Amino acid sequence: MDYVEHVVDLIGDTPLVRLNVVTEGVQPLVLAKVEYVNPGGSVKDRIAARMIEAAEKSGELRPGGTIVEPTSGNTGVGLAMVAQRKGYQCVFVCPDKVSEDKRNVLKAYGARVVVCPTAVPPEHPDSYYNVSDRLVREIDGAWKPNQYANENNPLSHYETTGPEIWKQTQGRITHFVAGVGTGGTISGTGRYLKEVSGGKVKIIGADPEGSVYSGGSGRPYLVEGVGEDFWPETYDKSICDEIIEISDADSFTVTRRLAREEALLVGGSCGMAAAAAIRLAERCGPDDVIVVLLPDSGRGYLSKVFNDSWMASYGFLPPEHAGGTVGDVL
Ligand code: PMP
Repeated sequence: MDYVEHVVDLIGDTPLVRLNVVTEGVQPLVLAKVEYVNPGGSVKDRIAARMIEAAEKSGELRPGGTIVEPTSGNTGVGLAMVAQRKGYQCVFVCPDKVSEDKRNVLKAYGARVVVCPTAVPPEHPDSYYNVSDRLVREIDGAWKPNQYANENNPLSHYETTGPEIWKQTQGRITHFVAGVGTGGTISGTGRYLKEVSGGKVKIIGADPEGSVYSGGSGRPYLVEGVGEDFWPETYDKSICDEIIEISDADSFTVTRRLAREEALLVGGSCGMAAAAAIRLAERCGPDDVIVVLLPDSGRGYLSKVFNDSWMASYGFLPPEHAGGTVGDVL
């Protein structure tokens, strides 16, 4: 019989899928590393598994302990799944701007969700950073993974994502493209690919306009999960050969094209990374092999990127599209 003991045993070993249509007119082979096929639906399952295992080994997380993390999305799902298997509790702290749907996903996995006001500065006692710190102090056996400073975040990619890509491309990859949030994906995968290729593989970060990685001031943008207004410890500045800046408009346009033209229903940061890969491909040759990592699924963004009214309200679609959300009525 062919089965796994638990759904978390399915984390990793994600496929590479060729991009055919959105890459028309460019010379290189462009391959997407499709991370939504992870059991929790995103690349973050990888770091959840590795951060928890390391904390168990170091004794920071003890049997029956509670995982406390400020997260509203993919990392929470990954942590909740691994916690469920191993008998830990989860408490996630998220700002009130996070949609009810997203909170309900975390609750569905058995996590507790604490909601904090968005409209307070980080130093305020009710800010979600401070509330999570207080909960760690107050809850007996609490442990905070802190994905922005946990070395096991990039290490999980050094040990899994990087080797998978090298093997899948039989060492022919020439460029790796990924969005940068905590920087774990690009730093860990990038370090592995550079080491194994003797520095031949070029590492290209994709970043929203306004984020610090591409020289911005931290001004707001709409694409979720990528870009920062500070420099996290998990981002290794020595890895990226280049950072390509992508506007919200381009990120969302390519996200929608990936669904319609490649049948890849993926999130906004995927469109951002793919937009960077396409821009890079335009100046590469026929022997180049570009791998672009797509972190999550588009299901979490149906009321945003895939909603015509929402897109039109930000000027990403002409106003005549503003009404056509739920389907056209004849
Ligand atoms: N896209 C999405 C949707 C994410 O949730 C994240 C993680 N914050 C990223 C991209 C960026 O990954 P990393 O944190 O490894 O840089």
